[in-house]
Amino acid sequence: MKKVSIIFPTYNEEASIDLLYNSMVKVMTDNSHYEWEFLIINDGSSDNTLNAVKELHQKDNRFCYLDLSRNYGKEIAMMAGFDYATGDAVIIMDADMQHPISVIPEMLAYWEKGYQDVYAQRESSNEQWFKKKSSQLYYKLLDETSDIPILKNVGDFRLLDRVCVDALKQMRETQRNTKSMYCWIGFRKKGIKYKQLSRKSGKTKWNFLSLLTLAIDGLTSCTTMPLRFATILGSLASLLAFIYLFVIIVKTLVFGEPVQGYPTLMVTILFLGGVQLISLGIIGEYLSRVFKETKGRPGYFINSYNGTETKNT
Ligand code: UDP
Ligand code: MG
Repeated sequence: MKKVSIIFPTYNEEASIDLLYNSMVKVMTDNSHYEWEFLIINDGSSDNTLNAVKELHQKDNRFCYLDLSRNYGKEIAMMAGFDYATGDAVIIMDADMQHPISVIPEMLAYWEKGYQDVYAQRESSNEQWFKKKSSQLYYKLLDETSDIPILKNVGDFRLLDRVCVDALKQMRETQRNTKSMYCWIGFRKKGIKYKQLSRKSGKTKWNFLSLLTLAIDGLTSCTTMPLRFATILGSLASLLAFIYLFVIIVKTLVFGEPVQGYPTLMVTILFLGGVQLISLGIIGEYLSRVFKETKGRPGYFINSYNGTETKNT
């Protein structure tokens, strides 16, 4: 019997655990020809999530849990999930059950047909207008600037074959953008459509600032286009300055130069200063990633796996 693991990055979701359990019981009964494993990764929750998950494990040991030593963020929680999941296939789902379980049989069917990465593509969502629009724009930007195609409206909800999981496990970077990593590893992919459900309980962990950070991280982790942009911006500014230099020389030769031109001087200095600062900032973004990555730290530490303390290697 093939084994399928579902991993849930979970942060302060105590209110969703019951729903999660009931949904997974349904998944198991509907797909009983597979062996199931549910791995809940407690990403340093500050509420009662850990206890709820422990209870779940006692009730039914197919529900496993991994307790991270602090809140590392969803990307790292998923990395930990890949490390500890044991199935022949791994499905990634949100613990708030915004991902409909009705898609799972379809994913499994495509997996049986030989697809190794069956990703679910959001058809529509009831997100706010601003969140929807900005995420559309962001995906477009990523896709245009990155050298690998980035799929629109595709999140982390997907089924990965063991080969994909093993590939991802080898990618130990700690500044992660898993979305672009799925694309990078390749393998046989298949998209299926789904409708995102709205959150039943608890509240979203993202605010505008954390989403912006995520977006900048994503951009700088999968494309070096901003660096190119800085180069182009700098060259363009130099070119303009050069042309203007000639204009000034000619003007001075023809008309002479009474002391004047304070506004132009100010505008030029400010403009060039701005260009330089933007470029420096962009270089800084990449440098900070290099800095964090060169420390070579492990991605995370754990308190326990199913209650047993394992050595952090
Ligand atoms: N999550 C996590 N660590 C974090 C933030 C979020 O593991 O630091 C989990 C969260 O519990 C949920 C999933 O990531 O299972 C998606 O988060 P959320 O539902 O808040 O995001 P949204 O659906 O609003 O984009
Ligand atoms: Mg959610």
